[in-house]
Amino acid sequence: MQNTEPFREKLLQLKKEMLEKMQAINADIKHEGMSADWEEQATERENDEVLESLGNASQQELAQINQALERIKDGEYFTCSQCGADIPASRLELLPYTNLCVECAEANEKQRKNNA
Ligand SMILES: [Zn+2]
Repeated sequence: MQNTEPFREKLLQLKKEMLEKMQAINADIKHEGMSADWEEQATERENDEVLESLGNASQQELAQINQALERIKDGEYFTCSQCGADIPASRLELLPYTNLCVECAEANEKQRKNNA
């Protein structure tokens, strides 16, 4: 049985940073200027779109972090959710919220590329 505590702490820290980042993004989106200049308004809208897609990426990452925390609770953190193999701690140190072993992650990536 491997010790998940350092990973849990890391994930909680990541989650905190992610929430702070998302709050900052949301504050930026809400902050809409009343610029008279049309060109300036268009630029602001473009910025908002960038911020929104950033927000979506963060939300996905946050969901993965929450999943990883659930997996720790269920004692499944070191188990690949696709093939059931052990995920090495060294991989989880780099990607603390992954739920796949290297083989499955690579296989999925290949499939994604083939489907594209
Ligand atoms: Zn696997």
